[in-house]
Amino acid sequence: MHEMSLALSIIDLAVEHLHREGGSRVSEVEIEVGSLAGVMADSLEFCLEAAARSTPVEDAEFRLIPVMARGDCAFCRRGFDVDSYFAVCPGCGEPGLAVSGGRELKVRALTIED
Ligand SMILES: [Zn+2]
Repeated sequence: MHEMSLALSIIDLAVEHLHREGGSRVSEVEIEVGSLAGVMADSLEFCLEAAARSTPVEDAEFRLIPVMARGDCAFCRRGFDVDSYFAVCPGCGEPGLAVSGGRELKVRALTIED
């Protein structure tokens, strides 16, 4: 499962960071999830909880922060939040918005307890 391998690498990163900082556990993990990252937030959250079991990240709260991609319309020059590469302009109905951003899946912040 795609989300499980992502979850495992996020937990690895959190544990590595914890060891480097010399803390005892991680209490919160903030993760940016782009609207085009191809990740189901519910599924990722479930996998994070499973992957964190029996690690110092076990009791952490996982905060998934949605990051919307932006689509810019070449016809009416308006910009919109989009969640698909194939979005149609909600302003004028033209397809082919120039889509940027929204591909991120990354840890934005970790809260480490002593
Ligand atoms: Zn338009």
